[in-house]
This record gives sequence, C-alpha cells and structure tokens, in this order.
Amino acid sequence: MNFDLSALRQEFPFFSAHPEWIYLDNAATLHKPQAVFDAMNEFYRSQNSNVHRSAHGLSQQATTAFETARTTVAQFLNARFSHEIIWTSGTTAGFNQLVFGLMGPVLQSGDRVLISSMEHHANIVPWHIHALPFGVELDVVPLTADHRFDMAAFEELLQLKPKVVSISHVSNALGHIQQVADIVRLAKAAGAIVVLDGAQGIVWQRIDVQALDVDFYLFSGHKLYGPTGIGVLYGKTRYLALLRPLLGGGEMIKTVSFTQSSWNDLPYRLEAGTPNIAAAVGLGAAILWLQQQDLTAFQQHKTALVQRFYDGCKQIPLLDLLSGPTTNAGIVALNLKNEHPADLATLLDQQNIAVRAGTHCAMPLFNTMNVKGSVRFSFACYNSFDEVDRTLAALTTAVELLS
Ligand code: PLP
Repeated sequence: MNFDLSALRQEFPFFSAHPEWIYLDNAATLHKPQAVFDAMNEFYRSQNSNVHRSAHGLSQQATTAFETARTTVAQFLNARFSHEIIWTSGTTAGFNQLVFGLMGPVLQSGDRVLISSMEHHANIVPWHIHALPFGVELDVVPLTADHRFDMAAFEELLQLKPKVVSISHVSNALGHIQQVADIVRLAKAAGAIVVLDGAQGIVWQRIDVQALDVDFYLFSGHKLYGPTGIGVLYGKTRYLALLRPLLGGGEMIKTVSFTQSSWNDLPYRLEAGTPNIAAAVGLGAAILWLQQQDLTAFQQHKTALVQRFYDGCKQIPLLDLLSGPTTNAGIVALNLKNEHPADLATLLDQQNIAVRAGTHCAMPLFNTMNVKGSVRFSFACYNSFDEVDRTLAALTTAVELLS
C-alpha cells in the first residue's frame, strides 16, 4: 500500500470521534472527509442564497459555487459539456427521471428494455412504475451458474433489439465489477441506448464517459465521499434533450401561462425547484479531494482487504461465501448455514462492527440465487488490515455462539 492510512483516516472526522466503530457498511454510504464539511459550512455561513434567481451579489456567489461544482463533476467524468450533468437527489431520483423521461420520446408500447438479474431496485421499480403500464417489456440477463453476469445470454437477448439496456457497473449485493466496456459496445452495436447504474462503480473506478461511449451514467454523491441528498444523472446532450421532465415548477421553464408552459434549456429543464445547493458544493469538494488521492492505491488496498477477509472467512466453518475476491469492488457477502443474516449482523453490531444484512435492495437477485439474503461486509479505502482481523475474530465468536 503506497498511501499513509493513518493520515488518511485523520481526514475523516468520524473516525477520531468514534474510534470504537469498525465501519464495514461502505456500500450503503461512505464517511466524508473534512474538506466536504468545510465546503458546505462555508457555503451556509458566507453565501447562503438561492441560485439563478436574484440579482444580488450573494445569489451570484451561490450560483457560481453551484455551477462550479457542476463543472467539477463534468470534468471528473470527462463529459463533453457541463450541461450534461443533471443534479438529482441521488441515483434513485435519477432513474425515476430517466425512465419517465424516456417514455414517449424513446419508448413506446411493445418496445423492450434489458436489465440484469443483479440490479438494485432503483433500476427495476422505476421501470415498473413508469414503463411497464404503458406496454414496455422488461427482459432480464440471467446469472451464470457461479452467479455472474451471463455475457453469452446477454448477447442472445440483444437479438430481441431492446431500445434501452440498463445495467449496474458494480453489483451492490455481490461486489462484482461488470465488463462495462464490452456491455456498452455490444449494446450499442445492437442499436440500444445504454444506461449504467454507477452508484457503486463511481467510487471503484475513474469513469471517462466519452471513452466508454455510455449514453447515461447515474450515481449518488454520498457513495463518493460526498453528502446525501445530491446525485448526478449524466447524459449525452442528444439523449437528455429528448427526456420529458418528471418534475415541473420553477427554474425548469422559459415561459408560463395559465394554460401552457415552455421549458428551459439543459440542464435546468430537468432541475425543477430549488436544488440542494450546499450538497452540490459538498460533492464538488469531495471530488476535488478525491482527485488529490492515489485512486490506484485505493483500489489495490481495497482488493487486498477483500482478499484477506475472504481468506479468513474460508477458515471459519459453516460460512457460505456468496461472492469471491476476484473482479470484486470491495464487497464480501456471506451467510451462516441455517441462520438468518440478521442474527449474525446483530451479534457483530454488539461488537461495534457495522455491516448490513438482508437482500440489499436486490430482492430479485436473491430469489434467483435461491438465497434468503446475506450479511454484507463492504470495504473502503480507509479500512485497515487490523479491522479485517478484528472482524474475523468477532465473526468467529458470533458463529460459535449461533451454531
Ligand atoms: N444502485 C445501486 C447499485 C446502489 O447500490 C444504490 C444504493 O445502494 C442505488 C442504486 C440507489 O442509490 P440511492 O439510494 O443513493 O438513490
């Protein structure tokens, strides 16, 4: 590991305030560095104003801070234009806007959409609400026998000519990193618009949306060291321009009469109402902070943490490991034979080890695997080998108690 872990941890106020916790619920949300708190504090203390509305100087400063954050995101993703960055409240909100927006201009009754068995509910339920009732059909890429994305089946399903292919970059339940370059290339060759759910992928890998040639990429700020309440819907201009706005109101219009309204240009057309300005500024700060870090070293460190934890788990009798250490973005999912995942998680919680138990907003995946759920250990750059070893010791004790 070529970064100083204890110096890194000192940048995260949570760890000095709560040294008693081992936090392994990083796929749910990450802790935030001081730089994010500072930027948000500064915004509220010195600028606090609404954006794009008032002539006064404070509003102009707030607008500059807000739009600078948008540019930071655009540069981080290598988007062509900053208007291709639409602020949302998170990945879920982004998907609802996207699916609603595609209905009509892109998707009509009888059209097909292709997702995978590994999708988070955020990439399933919006299709149920906004698309299926209007005659769109949803196809699902199955799992291979070892619970991986079935590339051969994917290629076959592309022959059904889906109009949209929407796949997660990294599985939040199992940690598998999908071969997104191949997925995008094949789906585009089949004529589909390609959407990647980057909620877990964004923190694993630097994304270049132009090199990847993906049409839409969505993520949440809080899973990228930023605050909650802010997220990004990236889209290529020509596709964003097609989307019908899900929300109407202030900011997204050009003209309004009592009988009709005309809509604003991108990105504002898809950003009705007062946005979460401080959170956008916080996400901008998180990205600037991240750009000063060695992301390759973070990746290598996470891979080593997962390998060590996985190897340790294999020595503990009666544990079923659902995901392996290879092509894994930092997640180990497991079960204790014949026990409910919540029991194991509760015993770990009693030892101040934060993990998540259940079906992880991926209920169809667990039904497909015929598994009732899992205990998910998700690692981040700031976790240590010592934490892995203490967790393995606690897990051994918990398993002994339960079996
Ligand atoms: N997609 C994936 C793969 C996720 O892991 C999550 C959150 O866990 C989401 C979508 C939804 O993100 P949010 O709850 O921030 O909207």
